[in-house]
Amino acid sequence: MAYATTNPFTNEQIKVFPNSTDAEINTALDAAHNAFLSWRTTSFAERAKVMQNAADILRANIDDYSKLLTLEMGKIFAESKAETELSAAIFEYYAKNAEKLLVPQDLPVASKDEGRAKVIHQPLGVLLAVEPWNFPFYQVARIIAPQLSAGNTVVLKHASNVPQCAAAMDELMIKAGLPKGAFQNLYPTHDQVSRILADHRVRGLALTGSEGAGARLASEAGQALKKCTMELGGADAFIVLEDADLEKTVNWAVFGRHWNAGQVCVSSKRLIVVDGVYDEFVKRYREGVSKLKMGDPMDPATTLAPLSSQKAADDLKKQVEGAVAAGAKAEEIPLEMPNQGAFFRPVILTNLKDDNPAMREEFFGPVTLLFRVKDEAEAIRVANDSPYGLGGSVFTKDEARGERVAEQIETGMVYINHPTMVKADLPFGGVLRSGFGRELIDLGIKEFVNHKLIDVV
Ligand code: NDP
Repeated sequence: MAYATTNPFTNEQIKVFPNSTDAEINTALDAAHNAFLSWRTTSFAERAKVMQNAADILRANIDDYSKLLTLEMGKIFAESKAETELSAAIFEYYAKNAEKLLVPQDLPVASKDEGRAKVIHQPLGVLLAVEPWNFPFYQVARIIAPQLSAGNTVVLKHASNVPQCAAAMDELMIKAGLPKGAFQNLYPTHDQVSRILADHRVRGLALTGSEGAGARLASEAGQALKKCTMELGGADAFIVLEDADLEKTVNWAVFGRHWNAGQVCVSSKRLIVVDGVYDEFVKRYREGVSKLKMGDPMDPATTLAPLSSQKAADDLKKQVEGAVAAGAKAEEIPLEMPNQGAFFRPVILTNLKDDNPAMREEFFGPVTLLFRVKDEAEAIRVANDSPYGLGGSVFTKDEARGERVAEQIETGMVYINHPTMVKADLPFGGVLRSGFGRELIDLGIKEFVNHKLIDVV
């Protein structure tokens, strides 16, 4: 796919970027490897200075960075600012904590024969990051902040529709004082990505995106025996129990399904509501969704953005049609829609039976899958009836009950009384077809290090 900026609010193509040549890629990998040889010897204090600079620059220029996000992928400006601030918070988190997180670990030994044993954490080398368009800065920050802090270097293959955001991250790190070559953005084709991954200078892969991209590149990483982490799709359950605070729950449901125009791996995609409150919940949910306002994402009055591209909107429409052909009922919420841009009216799908393909798919946009269940036990069963295992939430006034339910949901994250969140100081990742590995905090920074045992006998 050609790298290009197309404004999703106008569908106007603004700028096209040529693919990287093979020679450019080879030079970049040499530079990344050479940068690694010196960057890995730098102190945590030096690396922390660069991370803090990156955070400071993002915050000082938050409007400019955020406008770029809105321009290329269409999210509303307030959400762009929140993403830029979140990215800054991640850089700052590792500036403050990387050294503590990677401190060598003395091991208690059972007998004197084992001597003095410790585990040290050393960087692996050049990593390849393949990232999606839905959070063009955050997705990059959450891989480069920990990995550069650990002493690795990174080459980036960003999504083809956010080339300016990718370039902005590259420039940001240079301005922050990162040595040349330690982080580089490239514009490779898919075949070139495969060759980069197979290259002997590259030691690991971190990918966020669809199951298809994940399955293909994880198998290539496997062929090359390289470590990889996969952050793939999700179909988060949003369980509403009969003792939930209905007003707050409905507000969070509307937000959880529609922020970032519903294009979040941890959007609240499946609302699972117990019988006792179902009718009232649905009435209020429909009212809440009806109050959303589509429009220019730069206009502060807009609350529902266009999708990232016209193709995304067309594909989602076909997916809804597929669900209906298999027996689902679709209710479109009749919001006023601008006569331009990649907009998509919210849809609520009900009557979803086991054999409906929608039960096994991720809807990446404002489409709600709604389920009426008898009780808590059935809510847990429906929540776990998914190939995905990313996040999820439980709404109840009884926190202990919420925690008991959370323990029975097969995902990487569960929130009580909140849609799945993304924060700089909480881990992120899933199980099943949502992937493997974790990002952020100590779990993320330890994904691409050699946990080396040194034993003095
Ligand atoms: P993709 O998985 O296709 O794109 C994510 C990244 O992977 C992009 O950089 C893309 O590059 C790259 N990529 C895809 N295929 C290959 C390949 N064979 N070799 C090398 N790189 C590859 O996601 P889409 O943008 O197509 O979105 C499709 C669906 O994926 C969504 O509807 C949603 O279900 C899911 N998705 C999930 C995300 C999440 O956060 N978990 C984020 C984005 C999408 P390029 O743009 O050049 O194709």
